[in-house]
Amino acid sequence: MLKTAARSSGRTASDIRSVRDDFPILQRQVRGKPLVYLDNAATSQKPSQVIETLSRYYRSQNANIHRGVYYLSERATADYEAARVRAQRFLNAAQPEEVVFVRGATEAINLVVGSYGRSVLRSGDEVLISAMEHHSNIVPWQILCEAVGARLRVAPIDRAGTLPVDEFERALSPRTKIVAVVHVSNSLGTINPVKQLVSLAKESGAVVLVDGAQAAPHMQVDVQQLGCDFYTVSGHKMYAPTGIGLLYGRGELLEAMPPYQGGGEMIRSVAFEKTTYAPPPAKFEAGTPHIAGALGLGAAIEYIEQIGWGFIHEREASLLEHALERLATVPGLRFVGSARERASVVSFVMDGIHAHDIGTIVDQEGVAIRTGHHCTQPVMDFFRVPATARASFAFYNTLDEVDVLVRALQEAREVFG
Ligand code: PLP
Repeated sequence: MLKTAARSSGRTASDIRSVRDDFPILQRQVRGKPLVYLDNAATSQKPSQVIETLSRYYRSQNANIHRGVYYLSERATADYEAARVRAQRFLNAAQPEEVVFVRGATEAINLVVGSYGRSVLRSGDEVLISAMEHHSNIVPWQILCEAVGARLRVAPIDRAGTLPVDEFERALSPRTKIVAVVHVSNSLGTINPVKQLVSLAKESGAVVLVDGAQAAPHMQVDVQQLGCDFYTVSGHKMYAPTGIGLLYGRGELLEAMPPYQGGGEMIRSVAFEKTTYAPPPAKFEAGTPHIAGALGLGAAIEYIEQIGWGFIHEREASLLEHALERLATVPGLRFVGSARERASVVSFVMDGIHAHDIGTIVDQEGVAIRTGHHCTQPVMDFFRVPATARASFAFYNTLDEVDVLVRALQEAREVFG
């Protein structure tokens, strides 16, 4: 249970202190300074509620699922399936069977590419992605397109780092069989108008995958309202363990899709002559899954629900506003990406200082930010920068932490002149 009063309205500064107490790692020091963790888009920190769920599972509940007729196995199975139901409600999927546990957003996309994509895409067909995709939503499609002779088309972005809808619409054609688009950009923070994009893509007859890796931690996702066919979630970016994520797939598509991997648990019956497959989601969960991870993801969802979207939005909006305002005061700092609709992610470069040096300097002050291309090299090419520094905030960050980053950047400015 949440130790904080964050559930009630009219939250105060003391709420954030008790929320931070839920995250043991936030109490530690690095390099003799309090940790300022601003790399939440890479992976978020984990609350005790999630850590304790993992510990409890391994200490007193560990058993394989869907197999045993004994108490522990039945309990583990029930808890694993309960986590699926929690995930279903979290995404507002119509059925728990529409939610497949996967390793993360990357595996979710590869599953769709390898199963749905491989079974429908033919030579001359097109897959449409956007110019702000994470490599995970580029490379698998590239591999598939090369294999079948299909074309990968890219809807352009503009200098603000947004995706102009008219250009997206122009890139759609009757040949577009699949559209795969990111909900929130990990390197620019841009929130795409996915409902509108999905509706345009569907009108043109395409099946749509939305990469929600960076959206699910920041906003309430409703897959039915978005109207998408597939939606991917990365557990470790939303306070859950690494190695667990979700693929939402529309029921009739999952039913019709061939398996992604073969092995135990995904079959109905096996004979050397012919094997038949289990219905979804089991069809797509070959082998022993990350049971503890699924339970941990269930605990993370419960945690988010108890914290409440209102609190999350309010905190993250004020962190973003403060960061944009304060960072703008650092001489020679230039933002990369300036979408109006954006999540709490800020990318920037500084005149005369390579992004990696920025990261190393602020690390001396205990500040963890990400530097590099953020697995979006085409975005870096578009903005003609080799890399950016990126600060990404979670609801447990504080305005003081933003100020620590800004002071460290000012010091970097003095060092580099
Ligand atoms: N898509 C986006 C937009 C991401 O930011 C990331 C991770 O950074 C991924 C996909 C890959 O997610 P995962 O680590 O769960 O495979």
